[in-house]
Amino acid sequence: MKRRTFIRSTTAAGLALGLTPVACATPSLDTEILILGGGLSGLYLAFLLEKAGKDYILLEGSDRLGGRMFTRKDIHRDVGGRGIGDKYTEVMKLIEEFNTEMIDITDYMRSPTAIYLDGQIYDQWPDPSTNPSYLQFSAFGKSTQLTALDQWYQKPALDEVYSELLTRNGLTEEQIDLANISANYNDIRETSAINAYHSAAFRKFNGSERILNFKGGTANFINAIAGSLKKQVLTNKMVTKIDDQNEKATVHCKDGTRYSGKKVVATLPFSTLRDVHMNTSFNTNQEKAIQQLAYTNITQIHLEHTEAFWEEDRLPADMWTDTPLERIMNMSSSPTEKQLACWVNGTGTAFFDDMNEAEIASYTIKKINEIRPASEGKIAYLGVQNWGQYKYNKGAYVEFGPGQAAWFLDMIKPAGNIHFAGEHTAHKSRGMEGAAESAKRVFNELMK
Ligand SMILES: Cc1cc2nc3c(=O)[nH]c(=O)nc-3n(C[C@H](O)[C@H](O)[C@H](O)COP(=O)(O)OP(=O)(O)OC[C@H]3O[C@@H](n4cnc5c(N)ncnc54)[C@H](O)[C@@H]3O)c2cc1C
Repeated sequence: MKRRTFIRSTTAAGLALGLTPVACATPSLDTEILILGGGLSGLYLAFLLEKAGKDYILLEGSDRLGGRMFTRKDIHRDVGGRGIGDKYTEVMKLIEEFNTEMIDITDYMRSPTAIYLDGQIYDQWPDPSTNPSYLQFSAFGKSTQLTALDQWYQKPALDEVYSELLTRNGLTEEQIDLANISANYNDIRETSAINAYHSAAFRKFNGSERILNFKGGTANFINAIAGSLKKQVLTNKMVTKIDDQNEKATVHCKDGTRYSGKKVVATLPFSTLRDVHMNTSFNTNQEKAIQQLAYTNITQIHLEHTEAFWEEDRLPADMWTDTPLERIMNMSSSPTEKQLACWVNGTGTAFFDDMNEAEIASYTIKKINEIRPASEGKIAYLGVQNWGQYKYNKGAYVEFGPGQAAWFLDMIKPAGNIHFAGEHTAHKSRGMEGAAESAKRVFNELMK
């Protein structure tokens, strides 16, 4: 038996017996490449490495794969990324590879037109100056100012506080408060306008016209990728330390196990990577990015409607509100689904952070009943997904503060034996396509 095969099989046997493997003496390795994190970027990288005949071990901290692509079995809902643009190049390749069944939900995607403001409902917001999403996008302007997808981190002149741009383009302080309800950031008075420029450029240059969902939930797609992998893909392996030496790096997990590889690929969001003890020397901007980059808080309160109460009060199902519930949305993507949710972004999530589930349920139902009396007795609470407090992510997606985009090129450089992938390291794309793009980039780095 070859030495490496022997080490791998004894490690696996030790684990099966519940023994803690003893650290192997240098230069023995458990694998060539250790992938940290089993979200889309980690799984896609594993898939590419396997096709290239490379050896790897994937370590995922939670008890499931998928990361921010998460079908919660207890409430039968997708609570993370699920909207796929039909021009998502890398993700669509995987969808085709696994013959994943998709549904087109473009016609179900809408931004609310109604608004509940100061205790009154405006059906079609007679005055656009009160509509949160209109406010943000009208003041942002139609032009992206970018002529290519990967320019966003090279435009210091555009990297200013977002609210300052909106103020210059005519919004009052009161309108900025309203625009903050719809903005996908923690606070538009703190975040950089560069995030909005990047999103706008991605929408424009990616050119997706249809939005697709995974039929039956994102878990089907994640399970298909995971099911195709033949190497070790281990869950419940919360990484706490990376000990990077010249010839190899050893990764320590919370359960006491250790794994060593020639290279480590960290796909963890920086919000959790910053809790991992690492002895590698990072460049200055990389160090700052790992420690400081913000992640957007999102809290979703999932509900089920037993009857379409909007047919009774004849108001649109979806609405913005200036209450702590922020946005009430019908998230169904077929006439038979009964998915309703409140979607709270950024600093507004703090309102719910200290409440227990019973308090959130009671507050939410009471508030919706107050806003829409027709909903009385027709909605039920299912569950809450608090991405800001979810320990494996600590936020929904990366958001750059003013001036931080200049860190980007340095922050994604390999440091010692550690490479970086994940949504936050994508040059061009965002969301799931960004995660997949980053996996492809790191795959090419490793193959060099
Ligand atoms: C509410 C919400 C809505 C979204 N909507 C969309 C959408 O419509 N379209 C779109 O394209 N994108 C969307 N996204 C974004 C998209 O889901 C993500 O960009 C993508 O899934 C990120 O993949 P990733 O592999 O980079 O990170 P992740 O999926 O976060 O993977 C990282 C993995 O690392 C694990 N991990 C963390 N810390 C440790 C540790 N110490 N040790 C071991 N493992 C660890 C985590 O458990 C996780 O599995 C949404 C995200 C959210 C939260």
